Amino acid sequence: MRLAILGAGPAGLLFSFLIKRRFPGWTVEVCEQNAPDATFGFGVVFSEGALAFLERDAPDLYRQLMPRMQAWPMQRIVHRGEAVDIDGNGFSAIARLELNQFLQALCAAVGVEITYGRVLAEPAELAPADLIVGADGLNSPVRRALEAQFGPQIEWLDNRFAWYGTTRPFECLTLTFRESEHGAFVAHHYRYSPAMSTFIVECDAATWRRAGLDRMGDEESRVYCEGVFAADLAGHALVSNRSIWRQFPLLHNLNWSADAGVAPAVLIGDALRTMHFSIGSGTRLAFEDAIALDRAFGESGADVGAALAAFERERRPVVEKLFDAAHRSSHWYESFPERMRRFDALGLAYDYMTRSGRMNDDRLREVAPRFMRAVDARARAE
Ligand SMILES: Cc1cc2nc3c(=O)[nH]c(=O)nc-3n(C[C@H](O)[C@H](O)[C@H](O)COP(=O)(O)OP(=O)(O)OC[C@H]3O[C@@H](n4cnc5c(N)ncnc54)[C@H](O)[C@@H]3O)c2cc1C
Repeated sequence: MRLAILGAGPAGLLFSFLIKRRFPGWTVEVCEQNAPDATFGFGVVFSEGALAFLERDAPDLYRQLMPRMQAWPMQRIVHRGEAVDIDGNGFSAIARLELNQFLQALCAAVGVEITYGRVLAEPAELAPADLIVGADGLNSPVRRALEAQFGPQIEWLDNRFAWYGTTRPFECLTLTFRESEHGAFVAHHYRYSPAMSTFIVECDAATWRRAGLDRMGDEESRVYCEGVFAADLAGHALVSNRSIWRQFPLLHNLNWSADAGVAPAVLIGDALRTMHFSIGSGTRLAFEDAIALDRAFGESGADVGAALAAFERERRPVVEKLFDAAHRSSHWYESFPERMRRFDALGLAYDYMTRSGRMNDDRLREVAPRFMRAVDARARAE
């Protein structure tokens, strides 16, 4: 068996490692356009729930990864200068580059062959192969070449966001809401190493245009955002790394596998579907896909058709459920300026926690008792 994987991001690397470890006699080859130490973005974040799946499905990996991560037991909402902590809502984070290098080392140890610096135009270039795995990210060339079969659907969210880093190591995953003279902004920020944090800035399209961010270059945008969040950055700079303004694409595919002519093809990770960063990182989903595809081969052996069917049968219901919650969560962000006006910090934190429909009051009382005591006390006083 020869598996050809396009993309050495989290999805491609983890799948390659797992499948080669499971079937040492199979040839597993990865093709990647970038160098091994190239990266974009800064840290990646995992919720406690996301790590629970890793602990269950890949306990050895979990044990090796945990000591490398920054972890904290709560999330914080900052609004009108007031901070509200939501206990029981823990997260962990790691630098994306460190995670990739950790996965590269695992791949090397089991004999996965990775070619760096090769840009692929067509999936057929990966032939001969028994399976082509498109782990090639949001703009997936594999998906684009086989678009008629995969049937991708994309909804572009209206908000604009830019991914920065900063040298201020924030205490925990925090959502900070700030008004500028041009409108409302929110920053999602968290520490991913002892000295660095991810700092994603988001605003609605009208604010973005009023602020002139649609006409500014990289450096001017960075300085503008530093000004909006000056109180939160406390003198630290924002760091740019291809931090261009984007609209988030909610992508999913009607079909998960296709016939590439030279071999069957399947998509995993961002190539398959994206979910707004507010509900769990793309990295977590990429990991889950890799684990599910490896497990499907564990059941089906070298029967590729059976493995692809098992992968989709097991994984699709989970993904679709999460996709609905992610949809509701991303639409909450599309109306955050109006919510900032309506609620104070505690009210906004409660509205945020119940945004996706996955949390009701009873569940929140279980997982975030301290936070809910404050919410209940407020309700009694009103
Ligand atoms: C600018 C940006 C910053 C981000 N920052 C963060 C962050 O800080 N935290 C977070 O949790 N998530 C972040 N994300 C999202 C996160 O990166 C993805 O959800 C996650 O990496 C998905 O993993 P993946 O392996 O599916 O895809 P990717 O990580 O995108 O990997 C796909 C790989 O395929 C390769 N590839 C693509 N086309 C070709 C080709 N033609 N030939 C050869 N190789 C190819 C790419 O170079 C890439 O290495 C960011 C996304 C973007 C766009």
